[in-house]
Amino acid sequence: MQEITEEFEVVVIGGGPGGSTAATLLAMQNHRVLLLERDKFPRYQIGESLLPATIHGICNLLGLSEELKQAGFVRKLGGTFKWGNNPEPWTFNFSTASTVSAPKAYAYQVERQKFDHLLLRNAAHKGVDVREQHTVKELLFEPGRVCGVEFVDADGTTRKAKARYVIDASGNQSRLYQLVGERIYSNFFQNLALFGYYEGGKRFPPPRDGNIFCAAFNEGWFWYIPLSDTLTSVGAVVSKQFSDRLKLGHEKAMNEFIASCPEIANLLENANRVTEGVYGELRVRRDWSYTNERFWVPGLVLVGDAACFIDPVFSSGVHLATYSALLAARSIGSILNDEMDETRCFGEFEKRYRREFKNFYDFLTSFYDMHQHEDSYFWKARKILRTDESIQEAFVTLVAGGSSMLDEDLLVDNTNIDRIKGELEQLENVDEDAAPYFSDEKEAFLDVLVEEATQIQTQASVGSKRAAEKPLFEGGLIPSADGLRWRELASSYANAEQSVLG
Ligand SMILES: Cc1cc2nc3c(=O)[nH]c(=O)nc-3n(C[C@H](O)[C@H](O)[C@H](O)COP(=O)(O)OP(=O)(O)OC[C@H]3O[C@@H](n4cnc5c(N)ncnc54)[C@H](O)[C@@H]3O)c2cc1C
Repeated sequence: MQEITEEFEVVVIGGGPGGSTAATLLAMQNHRVLLLERDKFPRYQIGESLLPATIHGICNLLGLSEELKQAGFVRKLGGTFKWGNNPEPWTFNFSTASTVSAPKAYAYQVERQKFDHLLLRNAAHKGVDVREQHTVKELLFEPGRVCGVEFVDADGTTRKAKARYVIDASGNQSRLYQLVGERIYSNFFQNLALFGYYEGGKRFPPPRDGNIFCAAFNEGWFWYIPLSDTLTSVGAVVSKQFSDRLKLGHEKAMNEFIASCPEIANLLENANRVTEGVYGELRVRRDWSYTNERFWVPGLVLVGDAACFIDPVFSSGVHLATYSALLAARSIGSILNDEMDETRCFGEFEKRYRREFKNFYDFLTSFYDMHQHEDSYFWKARKILRTDESIQEAFVTLVAGGSSMLDEDLLVDNTNIDRIKGELEQLENVDEDAAPYFSDEKEAFLDVLVEEATQIQTQASVGSKRAAEKPLFEGGLIPSADGLRWRELASSYANAEQSVLG
């Protein structure tokens, strides 16, 4: 039989938020993009609590703002936590941060099968060749680089697609990332999540009724995410020491965890677990945090969970997936359109992506340290960090996805840089042993954050056109005015000067 080989500029593996974002942004630049998705959408996925940076940043760039408003997702104004030394639950609002402007101080709680489908349909509308029930099996190579994929189509026929670039956005379960490098697991975040769905759970009074609620208990912590007026996603994240409990059966284990967390037991007092349909099972995921030792090799780039994953307490997964997709699309667009150097573009991609991952990692390590029940297994041997009102703003900026998206004219009003810097410094108290694979990297996370905040503040004050910016890293690149490509600093200044001169 004759072998069928098609040609594209870019092939994207996976139609989750990472894959559809990267594919759409490249199609918007008129590139020929093929997206291969193994499943038939809508398909189930965990990861329902989103951040303002995704909603007002990436989704806006994708042209989805209006559709999202119409979709009827629950509005999330912030998070409520029963955590740390405070016996009462405490709440942060995205509006607390002066870095997040008031109209953008919310995100959504989403049913992922609906949200991901919306993003995938949008990719097709924007010109991506989207093929569902198509599974990538192998990568294709030419000397020194990846040059395409081999996949099985919906009829079971094996085909090939050649491309200048392959984006691996296939999530945490496929093994294609191995070609890029080793996956390095965190010693600190080695947890297991057991989760299901409940009808009739209680709601906090407005305006907190759409908040995510995270409640610490002896074995770990719970998430409680309102997905509609009546449907709630509930998950227990527990240390791997407790995996034995699951041997008694998921239902029994879940009920035991709920019983040992009074706040969740109270919220679910009159609720029933959903036992049918897509939400009908109790699922288990090992949510070990990891990062690949590299994020790209010539011809192949990793985005989203294929590249790295971090404990879900700050709902950062979809944000990191879509942000890395933006950075990857920017890099590929610059190489294909502007003939920029591949190593230089992907170098910028990787540095920015790693920095964002590290921001969350460092904060999370501190956040876990806040728990004071030293006699519990889960929190044992972790340092205690006291919290107070003053650090809330810095905290909120980060948990809104603000540190990366400050670079996109999305969230900022007026930033009191020095104050936030001071507050963040209090949170910098990270236990090096807890984050071993970052221990040599002494690079100034705060300086970068503050630098980026300054850029955005400037940008926000001049509207949608970007001012000539400074790179985030010495000698690095800056985003183009439309945010879709990279620019050299010198050419950006030249352009700015030219437009001033008319
Ligand atoms: C317990 C838990 C709770 C979480 N909670 C949150 C949360 O509240 N908020 C949040 O933002 N994130 C959360 N996350 C993280 C979130 O689930 C992920 O970070 C996010 O889904 C990553 O998106 P992605 O596009 O990289 O991958 P995915 O969403 O996994 O998409 C990958 C796609 O690739 C397809 N695919 C796989 N292999 C192939 C192949 N060979 N060929 C073709 N297609 C393929 C899959 O079918 C899938 O559709 C949570 C994660 C866990 C484990």
